Amino acid sequence: MKRIYELRYLLLFLCLIIIVGVELKHLESSSAETVSESSSTDEFSYYMDRVDAVFSDLQCFPVVKEEAEGIYPVSYDDSWGAERTYGGERTHEGCDLMAVSNERGKYKVCSMTDGVVKNIGWLEQGGWRIGIESDSGIYYYYAHLDSYEKAFEKGERVVAGQILGRMGDSGYGKEPGTKGNFAVHLHVGIYITDLTGKERAINPYWYLKQLEI
Ligand SMILES: [Zn+2]
Repeated sequence: MKRIYELRYLLLFLCLIIIVGVELKHLESSSAETVSESSSTDEFSYYMDRVDAVFSDLQCFPVVKEEAEGIYPVSYDDSWGAERTYGGERTHEGCDLMAVSNERGKYKVCSMTDGVVKNIGWLEQGGWRIGIESDSGIYYYYAHLDSYEKAFEKGERVVAGQILGRMGDSGYGKEPGTKGNFAVHLHVGIYITDLTGKERAINPYWYLKQLEI
């Protein structure tokens, strides 16, 4: 009789261990779910905040209207992610505003935002480029210029609508000043910093469409 009781207690004890073990495992996995859910919510709000910051930064279209016609002298499509081969296989990380008349130095390029000059000078792919960082930390990149409006210094403050230079076809060459390898256009890039601190391009197309209005 005593042996039967001992066996019953042993079985009960084993059952308790199993139940507690299963419960602990369940608690562990549900807290892991909560952590990943909250981190994806944080990530979502972070990127929503960045998207809002771009909207707040942008004040004007990056090409000045032609006085006579009163229209922006460019045409453009959503070429985000299109294939590019110069400098290796890559995808297009911006939007190309193609000049209606293929003349270098004719159309004025202006800053879409307030900010400071972060980068200026020659880039093999971007040609004569200028990069403006807004106060909210978004980076706006203008490439393939024919010339600069003036000798900008890094750290210099610019305001939205300020003329940065003239639209051109510079770039696609190691030699500074290489021109003529493609049609005259302005390449516009918008870069945000992701949660790991890495720079990421976002598609400027719909922002530009909005600015046109
Ligand atoms: Zn481009």
